[in-house]
Amino acid sequence: MEIYLDNAATTRVCPEAAQAALAAMTEEYGNPGSTHARGRAARKIVDRARAQVASALGCADKELFFTSCGTESNNWALFSGAELGRRKGRHILSSAAEHDAVRRPLEKLASQGWEVTFLAPGASGAVSPEAVREALRPDTVLVSLMYVNNETGAVTDIPAVAEVLRQARSAALLHTDAVQAFLKIPFRAGTLGADLISLSGHKIHAPKGVGALYVRSGVRLAPYLLGGGQENGLRSGTEAVPQIAAFGAAAEAGAAGLAENTGRMGALRTLCAETILERIPGARVLGGGAPHILSLSLPGYRSEVLMNYLDGREIRVSRSSACKRGKRSHVLESMGVPDRVIDGALRVSLSRFTTREEIERFCLALEDAAAELRTAL
Ligand code: PLP
Repeated sequence: MEIYLDNAATTRVCPEAAQAALAAMTEEYGNPGSTHARGRAARKIVDRARAQVASALGCADKELFFTSCGTESNNWALFSGAELGRRKGRHILSSAAEHDAVRRPLEKLASQGWEVTFLAPGASGAVSPEAVREALRPDTVLVSLMYVNNETGAVTDIPAVAEVLRQARSAALLHTDAVQAFLKIPFRAGTLGADLISLSGHKIHAPKGVGALYVRSGVRLAPYLLGGGQENGLRSGTEAVPQIAAFGAAAEAGAAGLAENTGRMGALRTLCAETILERIPGARVLGGGAPHILSLSLPGYRSEVLMNYLDGREIRVSRSSACKRGKRSHVLESMGVPDRVIDGALRVSLSRFTTREEIERFCLALEDAAAELRTAL
């Protein structure tokens, strides 16, 4: 039976979300902008989903705006966030370990005259609040740091970064890409200290094609998509009611057992790491912190060969942390991980549905892979 351990890439849609999407597609298929009964019913679905996601995130409903994905949320936050500060300064602070959905927009802003500092995360995989304090400038108008790294699971201390900005009396907006943090580590938007928070549905058992951006009340972010004025004028485009309904249902289901689920995932992650380190000589764990992501390396092996071996045994893990488009992972490189270790890296990522038996079978299979492929080294 298949063992799916690539939940940082995407997750299986949970029954609650699938049911909500099906009902929104086949029963309440109206346009929320229509004022007749069917439109009003669709509007109710969107309102309910907003309340569900807002409740799971710990913010007011009016602070949450649905988008098409985490990438869109990041692009909106960065382009509109930078624009908002334009008259105060042109400096942006971020890290070298960000997802491409942050790196690429920042590179574009840099090409348009913004000065962007990409802080190196160091061995832990996360940028320290001290590094932010040192790099912060009077003309810094935007700080964008991911909450949980998608390759290593490293957790940035966002509340401490917010405190650094407060102490420095900085006018900079704080954006965090929380796509891998939402419903994986406990936090409340209201107390996190970030002004802008990006979320994605498909990482929390909702379908692909829906995300959200939290915009702290009082932050006057300009819209990124212009059109019919949906989402209170801030994100035009007819609401994707089925995906939004599913996002709401998935958020509610994920929030219900959060402490227990993260505890169980964390215990399985520890079991997996300890088993591999004990049974496979030379194996290494790279960074970490969040309960659902484990970055491993078998130095001397090639991650794509290991991944293909496991794939043949119906075990799905990722090698994305190793080679992307022929290049080594920018995340692991920014942590100073040696090439040989990067080249043997695998990412194992869990969900609340992952079982102990699955982790044990993965460990056995990786042990077999290490033994069988050793001769090919
Ligand atoms: N940010 C992080 C940290 C991610 O892991 C991902 C997805 O891989 C994204 C952003 C992009 O999200 P989406 O696939 O919804 O566009």
